Amino acid sequence: SFDECYIKSVMRTIPDWPEPGVMFRDITPLFKDPKALRMISDEFIQRYIDTDITHIASIDARGFLISSIMAYQLNIPLVLVRKKGKLPGKTIQREYALEYGTAAVEMQIDAVTEGDKVLVFDDLIATGGTVLAACTIIKELGAEVYETATLIDLPDLGGSEKIQQSGIPVHALLAYE
Ligand code: 5GP
Repeated sequence: SFDECYIKSVMRTIPDWPEPGVMFRDITPLFKDPKALRMISDEFIQRYIDTDITHIASIDARGFLISSIMAYQLNIPLVLVRKKGKLPGKTIQREYALEYGTAAVEMQIDAVTEGDKVLVFDDLIATGGTVLAACTIIKELGAEVYETATLIDLPDLGGSEKIQQSGIPVHALLAYE
């Protein structure tokens, strides 16, 4: 069963990366530890196994690693939310504000459609900008966002609260103050 202390003991924090003042929560050790990866994946799978979600929309790039395991086990489609310029064909794009400048994510226009109930997955929620941009695209394509799931929430940055205020539930396995 899920053991928060174990997962936190495997995780690593890198101070001052990618810039001074940032405490970067590094999840790469979780992928090097089969017990941790299995524990996390199983926890998410258990949560969604008896729901009516039809798709997982996974955010570039660390989100892909866990959500592909979920999609396999839940036997539902996995669709990608990628950084701008990575997806071929017709896409829909949404910009969002960063501390300095803007970023954008995009999806292929046939990724989801009316009637779909979509779980949005990312590894970590900081300001919430990435997840909210993904949710906006999914709604513009006519689908419904069921919930946002993430491994780590940084509640001090206010992102999960902002997402919840927009009417989308947030489920996080861990929080780092
Ligand atoms: P937000 O848009 O919520 O401000 O930022 C979340 C995005 O930035 C996620 O896609 C996440 O992968 C990345 N990110 C921001 N800070 C961290 C961090 O400390 N650790 C990790 N692993 N990702 C981060």
